[in-house]
Amino acid sequence: MKLPFVHNTLATIVAIGLIVIATVALSFVNYYYTVGRENLVENSLVQSNIKLALHYVDRIEQKILDNDRILLEMVDVDNPAGWPAMVDAIRKADLNVDQVYFLRPDSNYPLYPEYSYEIRNEWGRFRANFKVNELDIGNLLPNQPHHLHKERPDNYFFVTYVLRHTMDGSPILVCYQMNFDRIVSLLDKHLRDLQDRFYVSIVDFENNGVFGQPISRSSKYFFEARFPTTIYKWILQIVPRNYTELEQMEKSQRLTNLVFVVLSMSTIFFSLAVIYVAWRRDRQLIQLKENFISNVSHELKTPLSLIRMFSEILMTGRVKNEAKKLEYYRILNNESDRMSRLINNLLDFANLVRGIEHKHFERTNIAQLVTKSLEAYRHEMQKEGFQLNLTVTDDIPDSFSDPNAITMALFNLLDNSVKYSTDRKQIDVRVARNNGFIELSVTDWGIGIPASEQQKIFDQFYRGSEPSVRRIRGSGIGLSITRHVAGMHGGEVLVESEPGRGSTFILRIPVQEPPEDRRQKDEASLEAMPANRNGC
Ligand code: ADP
Repeated sequence: MKLPFVHNTLATIVAIGLIVIATVALSFVNYYYTVGRENLVENSLVQSNIKLALHYVDRIEQKILDNDRILLEMVDVDNPAGWPAMVDAIRKADLNVDQVYFLRPDSNYPLYPEYSYEIRNEWGRFRANFKVNELDIGNLLPNQPHHLHKERPDNYFFVTYVLRHTMDGSPILVCYQMNFDRIVSLLDKHLRDLQDRFYVSIVDFENNGVFGQPISRSSKYFFEARFPTTIYKWILQIVPRNYTELEQMEKSQRLTNLVFVVLSMSTIFFSLAVIYVAWRRDRQLIQLKENFISNVSHELKTPLSLIRMFSEILMTGRVKNEAKKLEYYRILNNESDRMSRLINNLLDFANLVRGIEHKHFERTNIAQLVTKSLEAYRHEMQKEGFQLNLTVTDDIPDSFSDPNAITMALFNLLDNSVKYSTDRKQIDVRVARNNGFIELSVTDWGIGIPASEQQKIFDQFYRGSEPSVRRIRGSGIGLSITRHVAGMHGGEVLVESEPGRGSTFILRIPVQEPPEDRRQKDEASLEAMPANRNGC
């Protein structure tokens, strides 16, 4: 199936945009889904804590109400003579009662225990908290336990009271005053198993600890519940013993989720960026190749039409003037030379692209090689008005390199210097030794290269973007061949240039000893070794 739109820039950008949007949406959905699930787990944990606390409140409340029923049954209001024995039995039973008062609702003194000097203080304290006129006696359901729970500055006051009627219909309030310590031990007994997994406390409305220390309300796992009808001034508080771990776990889980989302998003964005860069480079290469084809065809066409034109003129035999003929021959020669150089370059480049390298490494003296090559080139350049200067430092050693490749790189550099020179037609070639390298540099005073292009010019097919470059014929492969030549020798090509001031290209080749020299040296050192050993 053909998908022509994939080459379309807009289609590619839209596709990348869609992937970005989908990734962001997916990541957020995933994040919120996970966070939502975590919240659900937390909520169910909190809910189960609430249930548990309410269950314990209910249990304690139920226990007090059960006790109330027993207390109710242990009293017979129609038998005043038996009240002392009944009260005694109640006190002895495990029902948390300190004292029982039998009252007439309209009297200031108890029916039992009979008011006396001994009970004066105790009765006074009781009356101070249990104010009959504050109770809605008229609406009080008879034979039903009711509760009065109060905070006192030094203590708590807890009474269960019941409205009873004697046979003759007189109302009697039976008040069971509870013992604080025994109520606390009842709480302790009923809350003990809860304390294995929870911090448990009972506080009053002022947050004073009645049972255990008050618990901080800051944790989300904290829960408190009131006792609805009995000890209604008190509040049960619970929080799981491992609440800090739970909170920590929750925090780290959130962080892990976030990190995961951020990581996966950045991975996708990074991959997209890589794809985008690769796609852009691909497009640039396609563009460069297209330019290359048109440049090369142009480069071949121009000399070819000149050759055809001048050879046709010569073939007609109409040119009689010998000087003119010579000039035409020279043009034919130059143009065919230019063509063959271009074709050679193309062939070398084709080999380079296909990875075929015909390395012919041999003992080479680069200084001599350059001197000889320039001898042949100098005449041609002088004719074009160029001054060619060669400087060679005299300590250039022989090295193991490919002379043809180096000549090719040199001619590419010289060719460029000629092409891109302006008024000052001077080219300086220098061969020198520098830190284990032989440096072959070619300098001109031509148009120069902008800093932004100084790296790109070594890429295949790349041609300078300036109009001054575009006007000059070229194929964009000369410097990439030069760089390849440097690379196959383990060296590099550098450029120093300033627009309008000229350029210097430096081909740096590491000095490599020819193998026969190395062998000779090895043999010499082997011969020297036994003597040394003997010497030791
Ligand atoms: P071509 O010269 O055929 O364009 P090259 O690969 O030889 O291809 O060079 C690549 C680019 O480098 C040129 O298009 C030009 O912009 C720049 N360049 C190379 N040599 C010089 C020079 N001596 N002076 C100025 N610009 C140069």
